[in-house]
Amino acid sequence: MSTFSAFLLTREEGQEQQLTWTEVDEADLMDGDVTVAVSHTTINYKDALALTGSSPVVRRWPMIPGIDFAGTVVASEHDGVAVGDEVVLNGWGVGETHWGGYAQLARVPGEWLVPLPSAFSPAQAMAIGTAGYTAMLCVLALERQGVTPSDSPVLVTGAAGGVGSIAVALLAKAGFEVIASTGRPEEAEYLRRLGAGEIIDRAELSGPARPLAKERWGAAVDCVGSHTLANALAGTRYGGTVAACGLAQGMDLPSSVAPFILRGVTLAGVDSVMAPREVRLEAWDRLATDLDPDLLATVTSTRPLADAPAIAGELLAGSVRGRVVFTVDR
Ligand code: NDP
Repeated sequence: MSTFSAFLLTREEGQEQQLTWTEVDEADLMDGDVTVAVSHTTINYKDALALTGSSPVVRRWPMIPGIDFAGTVVASEHDGVAVGDEVVLNGWGVGETHWGGYAQLARVPGEWLVPLPSAFSPAQAMAIGTAGYTAMLCVLALERQGVTPSDSPVLVTGAAGGVGSIAVALLAKAGFEVIASTGRPEEAEYLRRLGAGEIIDRAELSGPARPLAKERWGAAVDCVGSHTLANALAGTRYGGTVAACGLAQGMDLPSSVAPFILRGVTLAGVDSVMAPREVRLEAWDRLATDLDPDLLATVTSTRPLADAPAIAGELLAGSVRGRVVFTVDR
């Protein structure tokens, strides 16, 4: 029987979860018509929550974590996906309810996979990962509401994190003036290199919001939720849009209807996990043209997958800058 190596999360009734690097039988892989030899994966906020058990991300046990992977198809019974194809997976409950990317092998339904864009290597696709693909979904959500560079500036919260860093880069490349909100003043130079024109201290936005505040930005990408999202809404100019994708400060939204009914502000929700295939393909197409690979390299560090548990703690402590790619050795 063939086996492969993987990180496996297990939990016994009434006990804390355990994370081990172990051998798994290939026959135990979950349902799917495509098997992928994973070459690279990454870490997102949700992966860090799953690895540390600090939030109930994992909903089936045992679980191989990792919500993203890139690799090469080694077996396929799916029309349009052939052995040798290079593919990318983001979300769909992988790493939560379906075995994920922190492994040498992954098996998923073929419709969950997108072809690796020719502009990117597997490592670059994982430097983007769910974080970058979500940043692109946020930019697309603003565009769908008619937001253009003439609506500048655009606020990005959680700017030095994964989604935030790539959102800053994408918006700046598209010609927007970007206000980056961060709790890490030491990352100001990094954020300016990505294209931020102004850096603000996240403390300005993290306390309770008034229903309406001075109109400071025409749109926002919010990775933080809670009071920060409430302040982002309150400071949005008449007719503007806020794309909400994250909850790093909290899942609550202590706001009022004032921005919506007095300023016509739109709150656009962004979900990457169950986004339909055509939306994913659009986002990856746009990333291929809009994301400067040299800039991507400056937000990325590369580590072996064995480092994932340690990086998870750093990410939740807010000390990881940008994106981390993990290489998966065979
Ligand atoms: P990161 O941990 O890389 O970035 C989060 C950033 O949020 C931190 O770097 C920090 O930015 C800021 N932050 C952290 N804690 C707080 C706090 N208490 N108050 C205010 N700001 C805080 O995570 P990701 O970029 O991967 O994800 C960002 C958010 O988006 C997460 O909540 C994640 O769950 C969500 N997400 C949602 C997706 C979707 O489909 N909707 C997909 C991907 C992510 P700084 O240091 O600059 O202040």
